[in-house]
Amino acid sequence: MTDGADAIDTPTPRRKPKPEVTTLGGRELKPSTLMMGHGFDPVLSEGSLKPPIFLTSTFAFESAAAGKRHFEGITGKREGGAEGLVYSRFNGPNQEILEDRLAIWDGAEDALCFSSGMTAICVLMLAYCNAGDVIVHSGPLYAASEGFVAKHLSRYGVTYVDFPAGATREEIDEVLVRAKQQAKSQGGKVAMIYLESPANPTNALVDIEAVRTSRDATLKKPCPIAIDNTFLGPLWQRPLDHGADIVVYSLTKYVGGHSDLVAGSIAGAKKWMDPVRMLRNTMGGIADPNTAWMLLRSLETVELRMEKAGSNAAKVCAYLKEHPKIEGLGYLGMIDDPRQQDIYNRHCTGAGSTFSVFIKGGEAESFRFLDALRIAKLAVSLGGTETLASHPAAMTHLSVPDERKAALGITDNLVRVSIGIEDPDDLIADFEQALAQV
Ligand SMILES: *Cc1c(COP(=O)(O)O)cnc(C)c1O
Repeated sequence: MTDGADAIDTPTPRRKPKPEVTTLGGRELKPSTLMMGHGFDPVLSEGSLKPPIFLTSTFAFESAAAGKRHFEGITGKREGGAEGLVYSRFNGPNQEILEDRLAIWDGAEDALCFSSGMTAICVLMLAYCNAGDVIVHSGPLYAASEGFVAKHLSRYGVTYVDFPAGATREEIDEVLVRAKQQAKSQGGKVAMIYLESPANPTNALVDIEAVRTSRDATLKKPCPIAIDNTFLGPLWQRPLDHGADIVVYSLTKYVGGHSDLVAGSIAGAKKWMDPVRMLRNTMGGIADPNTAWMLLRSLETVELRMEKAGSNAAKVCAYLKEHPKIEGLGYLGMIDDPRQQDIYNRHCTGAGSTFSVFIKGGEAESFRFLDALRIAKLAVSLGGTETLASHPAAMTHLSVPDERKAALGITDNLVRVSIGIEDPDDLIADFEQALAQV
């Protein structure tokens, strides 16, 4: 080929994608390396280094027979799901790359992405629960998760039993036995054990290993153990290694990490994902291509961001701990309770950057502190590059009844802080001047 005209006339031969590198010189590549390319070959997209955003509602089949095979997979007539892309309610290239990369962080076989954390949680629960069934869950949960179980699933004859986050093996055994009796009396089964650890907003940890041992000893037909890992995952807690079956995320938080999108995911063995995928195919609720693309970018820096936020939080908490206007901290790097410390040592590799600050005083003092912050923004949510502070009792947990708030330790002097990746000394200066105004 010597000149441009020839180049135009010669059709580009279809090139085969290169096999992906996942091991090198006998070492398995780490997630942070794989985030730069796993599941995408530029050769298939005009050499574009980054995946294009595939804005299409539907995908052209190679032949009518191929279309039939895809639908056999989608509808469950044939095991193994669709062999290609069919229609954008089921999946798309950006979402599939995202799902492949999410699965890597948790050591999962398969993952599914959703339009929000709550969509992931609701579709997951609906996929596993029939009328008469019981969900066993740890408490507290994110308020909307707790609300979905108590207010919505109950309309379809699904009931629940809950246990406090720090419960011991013996206490969990008792709860599971009670749940089994409850299920029997309703003509159903224990359909799911749903955990959240650390719990929002108290940071209480659940003993996943104890839950697993208890389930295996108590239930003849094991139900899945799902866990919301939003606060520490994917970096500092890998629940599938400790006996959980399904890991759940609000990707809106640390994974998205820039407070500019809303999304969710679940990951686990394919056999646990399949029923949820089938329901997602029917209901919709998959993340859109643009959000999936944003999340691919976020995943390239998730380790970097979380490490910086975690080290910032350690410095800020060391400062706050000694402050005379602070009554205490709910920070996983400074646990007082030996039972919680033991769970932490077995399950977690880092304390995260979201914690509770108990201001001396009540709502008035907490509000004064929040209103005085100049760098930290007054907003709910967490896990972004910027530091956020909020008042759970008056905001995210306003609808929780007073007795339950008291039982969970969601007090009027609790301020929740999510530390970002700013300069740590600037953050300390901000907390110092805000506390001076209390
Ligand atoms: C934010 C959050 C959710 C809900 O996620 P969305 O993306 O807002 O729907 C669920 N669980 C926890 C622990 C959360 O912090």
